[in-house]
Amino acid sequence: MPEDSEQSSSLNEWHERSFFLEVKPRTDLASLFVDCPPKISAENKENAVIDLVRVSSHSVEIGLPTNLVANLPAIGGTIPDEVQHFSAKIADISLSPASVCTPKWADSNRLFMCKVHAEAENIPLVPKNFHRLARDMCNADYLEDFCQMLVEPTTPPPQVQIYYYFLNLKFYLFSFFQGGTLSKGSSKRNRKSASQSPEKRDKAVHITCRKCGMKFVQEGNKLALEYLPTDDWLQTSASGDFFCRDSCGAKCDPNRHGGHSSKGVESTKVNPDWVPTESKTLISHLTLTVHKQSLNEKSYELSGQIVVCAGCRSEIGQPVKNYPDLLALHHAIVSTAIGNKDFIEFRFNDYSMFLAQLILTSCENQSSVKLVIRSLDKTPYLLIWLLESYVVLATGMLHEKAQNENEEAVRPFPAIKMLYKVFDAATAASDPRANGEDASVGLIDVPFGCCLQMTEALLKSSHCLPPACRSVGQFYVGFLKIANSI
Ligand SMILES: [Zn+2]
Ligand SMILES: [Zn+2]
Repeated sequence: MPEDSEQSSSLNEWHERSFFLEVKPRTDLASLFVDCPPKISAENKENAVIDLVRVSSHSVEIGLPTNLVANLPAIGGTIPDEVQHFSAKIADISLSPASVCTPKWADSNRLFMCKVHAEAENIPLVPKNFHRLARDMCNADYLEDFCQMLVEPTTPPPQVQIYYYFLNLKFYLFSFFQGGTLSKGSSKRNRKSASQSPEKRDKAVHITCRKCGMKFVQEGNKLALEYLPTDDWLQTSASGDFFCRDSCGAKCDPNRHGGHSSKGVESTKVNPDWVPTESKTLISHLTLTVHKQSLNEKSYELSGQIVVCAGCRSEIGQPVKNYPDLLALHHAIVSTAIGNKDFIEFRFNDYSMFLAQLILTSCENQSSVKLVIRSLDKTPYLLIWLLESYVVLATGMLHEKAQNENEEAVRPFPAIKMLYKVFDAATAASDPRANGEDASVGLIDVPFGCCLQMTEALLKSSHCLPPACRSVGQFYVGFLKIANSI
């Protein structure tokens, strides 16, 4: 995983006084779990439920309210445990205290659970299926913006700046009269003009192994970088489709491509824009497609249908079907960077979002909510079953705080929730989903290192859940963040 992955800092393992809020846009009531250490009202737990956990619109608390505690005389100079007060603030979502229902001890020990009505504050939460989520995540604008970094001028001439300002003003006035907020177009332009820095930047495309740092680009080769709208563009598009995609802007239904006339167009020839060359490489959401000749031939080896790094022997990608000179290198193991900006870091600020995108696009491509993730040598490592495709989660700790202390609010984030099972050699051989007997399961082959990243990310997510919620039958429960906030 990239070193600056924020996952470890933003997700905390479940422990004393953790809370977990799960909002399912499809259902009316959210589930709230709070860890209540037994020392608080240990003898009279059944009757103390309402006193123990307080839910207000933007916070969860255990213990007596702070203003009451402040007026209590201290016993023997210390405030006893019973009147300690812990709380956590929750941003962006408002809970309705009046709707709290079915309070219970979920593990007959210390895990308090209740249902509560929760609403997002700014925009209503809409249920999204995985088709919608995959489409939202695979926005080609990010690919275009990344490629743009290679060609945009380092210091824009002054007239360009003026043009930007003029454009912003126009957008602002437009949205002012519309009574709306600033449009996406203007903020994007703001970001672009703000990103211009006066210092000279390294504008070369660097393709390196994330494991050992092996440089794959031929020394002195100044590669151009363009993008493919989908990862399977070259494999799934017959020559005729290139004409169609170009002429109809990919808006049409692929099943009806036959209806387009290709008269007068040399339809047997693939549009050269979509094919990498020695001097041009094409990036997509999950892979980088390169021509063999653009790489240093000593930096990689081809063993059957697997490309391995010559430095550390890691699986890094596969040859592209029907294109013997092209290799698809996986972003999970191979870093594509412009200067020192890696594509995954540019695209996502949390590595688990890249893994979520991988799962969502695979489900979409395989038309299945069950996936077996295998390494490139076809060894199954993980079974993923996307049950709840879209949830909003908030997780954090209840803290003890001074009366007027300003505490930072926990920010809920959207995630995909799934059941998963980690295979070992024995279960991989006997489980019908792993050995290919169950045809309803989609198979995806990724470099071995990516199987490990996925397993690690899911296990970490399971550890954020209350212990009683971590497994269902033979499966573990896990989730992957798809955005930082709702
Ligand atoms: Zn078409
Ligand atoms: Zn390597």
